[in-house]
Amino acid sequence: MQEFAEYESLTKRDLGAKNHDMHRNGRLKHLIFGSQLNTKLLEKLFRSADMIRRLSRDPEGNRRLRDLLAHRRAMLYFTQPSTRTFLSFMAACQILGITCNEVRDPKTSSEVKRESKLDSIRMFSSYFDVIIMRSQISDYAECCAYLMNDLERNQKRSVPIINAGAGSDEHPTQALLDAYTITRTFDFDENSLQHDSRLTELRAKYPDLTSGMDNKAYAFCGDIGRGRTVRSLASVLSQYSNVTMFFISPNQDALKLDDKLKQRLVRQGVQVVELDSLDATHNGQPLLSQIDCMYMTRIQREHNSESTEAELTAMDLSPFQLTTDRVEQMKDYAPILHPFPRDRVIDEIPTAVDSDPRAMYFRQARNGMWIRAALLVHLFDAADSLFMAYSDVIGK
Ligand code: ASP
Repeated sequence: MQEFAEYESLTKRDLGAKNHDMHRNGRLKHLIFGSQLNTKLLEKLFRSADMIRRLSRDPEGNRRLRDLLAHRRAMLYFTQPSTRTFLSFMAACQILGITCNEVRDPKTSSEVKRESKLDSIRMFSSYFDVIIMRSQISDYAECCAYLMNDLERNQKRSVPIINAGAGSDEHPTQALLDAYTITRTFDFDENSLQHDSRLTELRAKYPDLTSGMDNKAYAFCGDIGRGRTVRSLASVLSQYSNVTMFFISPNQDALKLDDKLKQRLVRQGVQVVELDSLDATHNGQPLLSQIDCMYMTRIQREHNSESTEAELTAMDLSPFQLTTDRVEQMKDYAPILHPFPRDRVIDEIPTAVDSDPRAMYFRQARNGMWIRAALLVHLFDAADSLFMAYSDVIGK
């Protein structure tokens, strides 16, 4: 995009070099890409999210949480539709005492007076301490992070940028809550603090099933090519050992796994299998009976060209519907995730599945609030204060 011309060469580098610019002293400076979320950082964030969740159940814990970042202000700049990401970030800020403000419609900002996108962001950074942004322009958040880095180099005011959804490219904070949900579901550790009767039963029934995200077969179904949540989560999961990923999508170029991501996953040691129906088999066995986790997605119609729209309208999409019959074929412990919204016309997960104990999507959305609060605690370097509050209130 012309407006970001000065950063074009930076956006064209490989992910390793880009990630390097988004950290400071081994900590996150901005969160732009899923691949920034390494296993060590994830562990830390999961632990903070657990503490925040636990503290929030206690009146004194709530008060301590609200004091943690009461001196901070956040700008929620969401120019693309959002329900869960927007509200859970807002709730996360409220939990931590952060004051929030929002711009959701660029027509109400000076962009209509031909202010440049980067000037708008620099203005936000004058009033707020973090900018949480969603845009249909894929590299907008990334370029804002470079702008902040330039300002910092010139000893000017600079604030963290959080990518809350970038075009069809990345959605790292969704990957964060997805990974947190998967970890909580596979909490098969006997010493776990989660006291859930279903987990206790599963622990006893599957003594060989390992905790955490290693040693699992993950299935992603739907719009693989344009689903930004798929790209970010697959990057995160690819760091774990002995991982297989099944990608199930309609046989349409825009919707299939793109080559760049495929190569990156394979380089990371992931076994990648592409299929074109939930009823497909792999090594002679039904796919559904082999997977440990199912990640459903909707078809991203907003990215359709006229010809893709026509092709998809004519296509039978029922092979990508997780009906109760198909859920029946899955392992009894395998969680079903969906970043939501689900498409009420295509009905990729019929509501009849909602009462199945494997349906995690509502819990998954709630987890977004805890883990996004944990991310803010990390970005503002408040993890020690959180731990102190936890020890005082819960550990007393
Ligand atoms: N809510 C998710 C996103 O913003 C998933 C979706 O819209 O399909 O990417």
